[in-house]
Amino acid sequence: MKLKDLLETNIENFNEYPFLFQQDREFTNVETKRYAEALACGLHRKGIQKGDRVIVCMPNCAEVIFSYQGITRAGAIIVPVMFTLHTKEIQYIILNSGAKAVITSSIVAASVEKAIENLEVKPLLIVVDQPTNERAYNFYDVIQSPVQDNPLDADIRPEDTAVILYTSGTTGNPKGVLLTHKNLYSNACNSALHHETERGTTLGILPLAHVFGLTVSNICFLTGSSIVVFSKFDLAEVFKAIEKYKVKNFSAVPAMIHALFSYPASDQYDTSSLEWISSGSAPLPLALLHAFQQKFGVEILEGYGLSEAAPVVTSHARRLPVKPGSVGIPIPGVQIKIVDDSGVEVPAGDVGELMVSGENVTPGYFQNEEETWRVLKDGWLFTGDLARLDDDGYLYIVDRKKDLIIRGGFNVYPRDVEEILNGHNKVLEAAVIGIPDERMGEEMVACVVAKEETDVSEEELIQYCGEFLAKNKTPRRILFLDALPRNGVGKVLKTRLRSQAAETIT
Ligand code: ATP
Repeated sequence: MKLKDLLETNIENFNEYPFLFQQDREFTNVETKRYAEALACGLHRKGIQKGDRVIVCMPNCAEVIFSYQGITRAGAIIVPVMFTLHTKEIQYIILNSGAKAVITSSIVAASVEKAIENLEVKPLLIVVDQPTNERAYNFYDVIQSPVQDNPLDADIRPEDTAVILYTSGTTGNPKGVLLTHKNLYSNACNSALHHETERGTTLGILPLAHVFGLTVSNICFLTGSSIVVFSKFDLAEVFKAIEKYKVKNFSAVPAMIHALFSYPASDQYDTSSLEWISSGSAPLPLALLHAFQQKFGVEILEGYGLSEAAPVVTSHARRLPVKPGSVGIPIPGVQIKIVDDSGVEVPAGDVGELMVSGENVTPGYFQNEEETWRVLKDGWLFTGDLARLDDDGYLYIVDRKKDLIIRGGFNVYPRDVEEILNGHNKVLEAAVIGIPDERMGEEMVACVVAKEETDVSEEELIQYCGEFLAKNKTPRRILFLDALPRNGVGKVLKTRLRSQAAETIT
């Protein structure tokens, strides 16, 4: 039940095989283990000890996987950080986590150096693709010396923290979610069990710095699978890899699924090996689900999860009937319930807050007891998501509690309005938010990106919504934008939209 065991079991069960592909580089599972062991020893020599935090901040590459395994073997804690973050955000995480070292690559190194330049205690800087300078060590110099037995290996317990994952901050300051070896190991096992994941090659298109991407790599170790990692989401490269490696399944976020769907040259590649795709992390628009399935003949299994649940809570599975719009049923070992504001469970069909319990649930936030107390009660996690269950136990995510708009005393779920707007033939994407309003308490604004070369007016969209939605659910204002602000995994940053709309709309 320790993350390190994933690699050990993988080698015991499957012998040596090509495990990791990145551009023209290829590493077997045994080579991956050697790099990980060498890094663990290198980190020890540099003074990293059990429980120390080590940040890994770079685009997906083989060294991210070596680093995750190496840090784990050293008994230290991985702090994955999205390389797309602003210097100030990286600095916040360095300070909050008290990181002793940062492993990074040349694209991000300048930003990391800037983030640490004024810090009293500077973390060690290790760069994977740059020669050593006076401030930074080169990754391959750190791992060069001979590998000795790792004294801390025996000391790692399943309840120890393996990872501190900073939430993407879509609803406020990022919080450091503690995930233990047991949390991550059990979630990888139960996700693989639920999906009946077979041995094969998958795509590492999700950032490995995100909990969803991290779990994909853990499932690969478990199932003796291979992973193709991409340093950037280049559609031609992704389709090429599907054809070359006969990829059977992969995980993605809706923004990626949309990009794959819209890629004009997709028919030049053989994608017939694909059997299913799992989508999670944000709502998958129904129109996209149907259009994608029709175009590629590939089933999309939508699931739901969050960092605090390491991450998978529910998902559809191929052996079960799929209900579009739902996020499936709980994976093994995970329990869910829906409660009202007083914490009482509500009947099927009623909307309330979703709560989760199981081996996958975080023990809390790093050095943040107040938040930990707020979200964890008697082994149950308050997810902050509004949801309902149907009579068959399928879960439907209604919206985030924080995104709920209370307009003139009536609840409006932005997602209901977004689904309608996304169905308009001139709309590329839409996000609905509430802004303060003297008369109504909150007023609804739809932020809309129109499709290229189309001409659509505010009146036209408001009238269109009125055809499908009750009057109090119809947006009063439309804010046209060139693009929706998104975080590193393509989630819409509604906090940013709210301030943008409040400034623009009078
Ligand atoms: P922060 O807490 O800082 O806002 P975050 O919530 O984006 O960050 P994650 O743990 O990455 O951090 O995201 C989990 C959230 O993503 C869930 O709580 C839920 O709101 C949303 N989510 C995940 N899967 C789905 C899905 N299939 N449909 C709708 N929402 C989803």
